[in-house]
Amino acid sequence: MGAQRKVVRTEPPLAERLKQRIASDGPISVEAYMQACLADPDAGYYATRHPIGKDGDFVTAPEVSQIFGELVGLWAAAIWQSMGAPKAVVVAELGPGRGTLMADALRAWQSVSGLLDAVSVVLVETSPALRAMQKTRLDGAPVTLRWSERIEDLPQGPLILIANEFLDALPVRQLVRREGAWRERVVALGPDRGFIFAEGNPVDWVQDAPDGSIFETRPGVETLVSALAARAAHAPVAALLIDYGHDTPGFGDTLQAVRRHACADLLAAQGEADLTAHVDFAALKRTAEAVGLTPYGPMPQGAFLLKLGLEARRDRLLQRATQAQREAILSGAARLVDPRQMGLLFKALALTSAGLAPPPPFGEN
Ligand code: SAH
Repeated sequence: MGAQRKVVRTEPPLAERLKQRIASDGPISVEAYMQACLADPDAGYYATRHPIGKDGDFVTAPEVSQIFGELVGLWAAAIWQSMGAPKAVVVAELGPGRGTLMADALRAWQSVSGLLDAVSVVLVETSPALRAMQKTRLDGAPVTLRWSERIEDLPQGPLILIANEFLDALPVRQLVRREGAWRERVVALGPDRGFIFAEGNPVDWVQDAPDGSIFETRPGVETLVSALAARAAHAPVAALLIDYGHDTPGFGDTLQAVRRHACADLLAAQGEADLTAHVDFAALKRTAEAVGLTPYGPMPQGAFLLKLGLEARRDRLLQRATQAQREAILSGAARLVDPRQMGLLFKALALTSAGLAPPPPFGEN
């Protein structure tokens, strides 16, 4: 038959491209591996998927209950007031996911006199798929919305920055202690051409630790904090960073792959699983202090939301709810604050520029 087959040229899958890269250039750092798996423009996890929600791979706080975005929105409103209610303020959200937090915050802002006239919102998002979802979700918002790929491109002036489960998605470097020296942990190819973890070149790092220890650092956090500090020299800045992680400086390998709500193999299905690692809040605070920002917290998410008035907000929603809605409101609110669910592992950290009052609820006793 004369039917012509159309030849479609496709990129080799991400795993194959990574193998070719390692075969020709040598092993790649864990950081480069994580970066490729998450952010490769053609096949990276965030670039190609809708990962968040019941049908995705993980569920985040804004998707659990509208109360989360509303309280974060009211936090931002309180900061704006403590800045002296400037006529123009940028509220930027890093990694806005499905746009749910911002949609809920915008609703909360309607009750704050003057705020909607002052705010312009910037959504910092690299994923085209999620950007499209955010545009649909926030269509018709009563403020100017803009999208940006980098925090360095945010407009000048007073800034309130929000990031929920953003930092954990930034790639980590892993260093391994071996015979008195630190080495870069790398991804290499084994004898059967499968991916393996290995130890690469020695690196300059001054801490001591027992042989075999793994230490994680996150270069993207330094970039973010330096960008905030640079702005703080000209205008007030406050940031609220909520993520899961630890407050005590520690050693250990926290890198994990998550797929369909379960742990997955780190070295398989590249681009199809979320790769994430705990946020080291102690390191984040040190980095912020070193550049003149004031850190508050971290405070466990449960305490943070309760102090911001989660119960009053929940009870107000319950008053207008049907029986089925009541159950969803109660279980959602409980999941956010329960220490066995999101209440303890997730933590809130605020950073402010000099001269701003301590942000709520950190300033309260
Ligand atoms: N904040 C959302 C989504 C968390 S998932 C929520 O709570 O539901 C992480 C988000 O960060 C996604 O939107 C992802 O596309 C985005 N992201 C990851 N790395 C990024 C980067 N380097 N710059 C901007 N956005 C990034």
